[in-house]
Amino acid sequence: MQYSLTFPTGTVQYMLHSHFEALDGICDRKQAIIITDSNIAGQYKSLFQSFQAVITIPAGEKNKSLTTASSVITQLLAQKTTKKTWIIGVGGGVVTDIAGFVASVYMRGVPFGFVPTSLLGMVDAAIGGKNGVNLGLQKNLVGNIKQPRFILYDTSFLKTLPEKEWSNGFAEIIKYAMVFDERLFTELSKRDIGYYRDNPNALSTLIESCVNMKNKIVLADEQEGGARKLLNFGHTAGHAFETLYQLPHGYAVGLGMILACIISEKYGLHSSAKNKLAIALLKYQLPITLDFDKSRIMEILRLDKKGNADSIDFIMLQHIGEAVVRNIPFDVIENSLSYFTYASSH
Ligand code: ADP
Ligand code: ZN
Repeated sequence: MQYSLTFPTGTVQYMLHSHFEALDGICDRKQAIIITDSNIAGQYKSLFQSFQAVITIPAGEKNKSLTTASSVITQLLAQKTTKKTWIIGVGGGVVTDIAGFVASVYMRGVPFGFVPTSLLGMVDAAIGGKNGVNLGLQKNLVGNIKQPRFILYDTSFLKTLPEKEWSNGFAEIIKYAMVFDERLFTELSKRDIGYYRDNPNALSTLIESCVNMKNKIVLADEQEGGARKLLNFGHTAGHAFETLYQLPHGYAVGLGMILACIISEKYGLHSSAKNKLAIALLKYQLPITLDFDKSRIMEILRLDKKGNADSIDFIMLQHIGEAVVRNIPFDVIENSLSYFTYASSH
């Protein structure tokens, strides 16, 4: 299934339920360079053989850096890349973020597209046009918004996806359900990670509905002036947990969503929402507790670019299926963190 969507920064061809080979309908392999990471390069070597070149970056979030981007650019130069050369990011969110960033700035922009290979990449990271790298403790501090020309979905890549990475992807899927779709939340709560791993059709349908939800928001607000902010549910505190304790992104977002529910309870959310969320997270093998240092988390939150001296814009839940942006004083967050620690360790 194929369709294209036009955003302010470009038109994207969505190739759902597709195969890697369908790339041949888009570009000439001899004028296309694959960017991938060390894990995927190792497991899919033969798939990449006929392309002009393969640039492999080391796997892992810590390599989503300006140093890696600069090394990729140097390698592109060595390949005599022209304005017509395609750059194709084949991998998880780290790869597509770096590939998109490099391709959109190299020679002021060369054509690029993505083949997301992780569940998280398929439902979230590859979609929406955000490209970028981390700097120090600040995630995605340097980057831009520019849509890829295509996103190709070949779910057969998921056969080699490690267990932990499935959980990571499901954290974002649960997030979509919490923020936009109560019916989906009920469905996810009835199933578990094993069900979707064993049912490719159910998984494809699930991926497609996430793609649709994210695209609907990005079409309405590509530059994140309003509605797109809701996609950050669980991410403000999540990024702090992730950075401080080197947690996988999805694990941290799951914990961030629990904290967001605790804070939301102070503004009227029923406590059953947090309990339902915790039960759902467990079904997808995501943690619901963490021993953390409250003062260090507060330190990071106070540095967040969405905040000012004594408050921060936070995504709050009204009920499962509906979220809002609200400015929350830091002392309310600090107080909720105490409750979270208590809830976690008792
Ligand atoms: P994200 O969670 O944003 O997709 P990464 O790009 O770091 O983050 O991908 C997560 C991890 O999963 C990385 O170690 C990556 O090499 C690995 N990975 C991604 N896709 C596959 C796949 N299809 N098979 C095996 N490993 C994969
Ligand atoms: Zn996320």
